[in-house]
Amino acid sequence: MKEIVIISGKGGTGKTSLLASFALLASGAVLADCDVDAPDLHLILTPDVKKRHDFWSGQEAIIRQEICTMCGACLNLCRFGAIHEKDGVYKIDPTSCEGCGVCARFCSKGAVEMKDRLCGAWMISTTRAGPMVHAKLGIAAENSGKLVSTVRQEARRLAEETKHNLVLIDGPPGIGCPVIASITGASAVIIITEPSLSGEHDLMRVLKLTQHFKLPSFVCVNKWDIDEDRTEQIEKQASTLGATPLGRIRYDNGVTKAQKQAKAVIETDAPSATDIKNIWNNLQHHLEKEKTK
Ligand code: SF4
Ligand code: SF4
Repeated sequence: MKEIVIISGKGGTGKTSLLASFALLASGAVLADCDVDAPDLHLILTPDVKKRHDFWSGQEAIIRQEICTMCGACLNLCRFGAIHEKDGVYKIDPTSCEGCGVCARFCSKGAVEMKDRLCGAWMISTTRAGPMVHAKLGIAAENSGKLVSTVRQEARRLAEETKHNLVLIDGPPGIGCPVIASITGASAVIIITEPSLSGEHDLMRVLKLTQHFKLPSFVCVNKWDIDEDRTEQIEKQASTLGATPLGRIRYDNGVTKAQKQAKAVIETDAPSATDIKNIWNNLQHHLEKEKTK
């Protein structure tokens, strides 16, 4: 089974648009939205949720008021400023609590209870492009790396179960823990960027990451015609870092129009649909070549 991940150095570079089009072109892939901090693949593919599972991660402290003697000892022990006192009553702000358990350990009355923390949910859905695993992280909830791993693992399991041989992953932006969780061991990583100074800088950081994990990497430049010279420079630099330039996508208002209609670009007559189809074909060609090596 192949796992192809699309990532970018920062959000808003067209990662999800490309993934949605790929999903339709593949006609037979399981989709995974691993951008759990800001998921938006569902806006294009309008999934029909079939199964929903709670996502629990870490712990949070709760003061049981009936036992608390309001001694105030915990207030000074919390290094995260999560405990507050108002009118002699001590309460814990769940969004600041890091679940370290210090307050529970040192409350002599045993008034602090540590409870598992509900951090969000992950879902299995059907879409017009195929089955999809996606998630929603709760407000102020952390550990998105763990949720990314869950989504990816479930997508893989679903692909095995439903006999799909391809998983297409919309990865998170950046180079942090969630990105690492989405790319490690992938068959191919496609990095999408724009021809700007920050786009170039972000791309180099991401490429160092894919290089570190020895992952086959490909680069696409979105809105290449904004700055052709920089596009060329980006492609050259990407090649020197071991990545393969896969193609360019022109600047196209049709992309926004497609998003507004909840359509993938290739479902419309937007000119850039041709660019995306070419990129998909190039990718297939490269993967075939890899297979015969
Ligand atoms: S240390 Fe325990 S008893 Fe004292 S205020 Fe905190 S929770 Fe209440
Ligand atoms: S568990 Fe740690 S972070 Fe949370 S309130 Fe207690 S001391 Fe503060």
